[in-house]
Amino acid sequence: MKDLISPLFWGILMDTDLVRTLMKYYIKTFGCQMNHSDSERIAGFLEKNKYKPSSDINGADLVIFNTCGVRQMAEDRVYGYIHNIKKQETRNKKQTKIILTGCLSNRPDVQKRLKNKVDLFFPINNFETFENFVIKNSFKIKNLKLKISAQKNISNKESITYLSNGPKYTNNFQAFVPIMTGCNNFCAYCVVPYARGREVSRPAEEIISEVKDLVQKGYKQITLLGQNVNSYNDGKINFSRLLKKVDAIPGKFWIQFVSNHPKDVTPEMIETVAQCKKVCENFHLPIQAGDDNIIRRMNRKYTAREYMRIISKIRSAFRKYKPGVLYSITSDIIVGFPGETRKQFLKSAEIMEKAKYDMVFFGQYSPRPGTAAWNMKDNVSKAEKERREKFLNEILKKTAYTNNKKYLNTIQEILIEKEKGEFYFGKTRTQKNIKIPATNKDLIGKFVKAKITKANAWNLEGGIK
Ligand code: SF4
Repeated sequence: MKDLISPLFWGILMDTDLVRTLMKYYIKTFGCQMNHSDSERIAGFLEKNKYKPSSDINGADLVIFNTCGVRQMAEDRVYGYIHNIKKQETRNKKQTKIILTGCLSNRPDVQKRLKNKVDLFFPINNFETFENFVIKNSFKIKNLKLKISAQKNISNKESITYLSNGPKYTNNFQAFVPIMTGCNNFCAYCVVPYARGREVSRPAEEIISEVKDLVQKGYKQITLLGQNVNSYNDGKINFSRLLKKVDAIPGKFWIQFVSNHPKDVTPEMIETVAQCKKVCENFHLPIQAGDDNIIRRMNRKYTAREYMRIISKIRSAFRKYKPGVLYSITSDIIVGFPGETRKQFLKSAEIMEKAKYDMVFFGQYSPRPGTAAWNMKDNVSKAEKERREKFLNEILKKTAYTNNKKYLNTIQEILIEKEKGEFYFGKTRTQKNIKIPATNKDLIGKFVKAKITKANAWNLEGGIK
């Protein structure tokens, strides 16, 4: 019986009579890579406790929604799923336990709305509450009351203990390795600091040992994750030193990292990224808006000029340390932030022309309860937000295509991600999508060299060299 239960609980449960009642779980994840990575840790914990994954949401005994608070649409989808589960339950006379974590789990209005449908709301940094719940609901436990509270104050140390749970990686060649959680920045539109609490960095030794283990298992791409990776500091080392340590791990693998905040980019970090051999030549640097007044109202703490200075330092560093090697610069931009005038919006277009991005992830502003911008008037219409996004996308198409043409006739290292029809699809070190004719060998999850024969705006084409 002992191996069925997390060691944490063994002491508590020793004298109880245990009968397993729950078996299958289903996790529905919304939002960013951090949520996907958290879901891998949740799945790891459940499987360690002998839960089995269910391929069908309605066939599960335990359904976990790992929610995203960035857009209303993602929130509405969660309500829809829960409504359907409850409908099915009545039809099938079956009870499903529903757990809600992620960015919506702390919101009082969400809790109020779902209080009769959801069995547990737990912010991810309060993982112990989830563990208690799982144990309590897995067994009929006599003589034991486990206190379940999602509201207790979490210490910094406690808030990252869940990261040491062995994850169930969703893929056997690419892995997310979280290096920190939370955020201290309070950008006006963002729920993360409220949903995940303040920044806490994971000890470097723990990160190194997870990466070493992955590399030994044959993983080819390691993505270091955090809401603000470049403010990483575990009390001993900063992000640059961590990158160097990961880079020094023996083996053939790529290192990527997301996401960065411009205010925390230091000359040391730029040099490190450009010098480390395994760190890929892709720098993701979200600007969010091109107008200084909007940037200030977003509480982002830099100006467009300062941002552009960082971009030119990144370019010079790549040219200096990896001459002739192609690199990419990518970003995030929000259109239609409250009060953004047409003139201010055009500053975002101007930045895009200057930065010549390889890729930009656009977001149409959506007001989020609890954030500073919630109290600002969302006065840019949906149609105008769409028009602005489209306008910026046209600029991106142009710069991405110009950048992609530099790949023509070059040989690039590719990591093959999937096969569809007669083609393999993969990525270059610079995160460019590439399509190449499939061979009769199984190359998924392998590195290959490819010659680039065609450049499009959104991808490259070529053949195995
Ligand atoms: S840096 Fe800003 S946008 Fe990013 S997670 Fe923190 S508050 Fe949110």
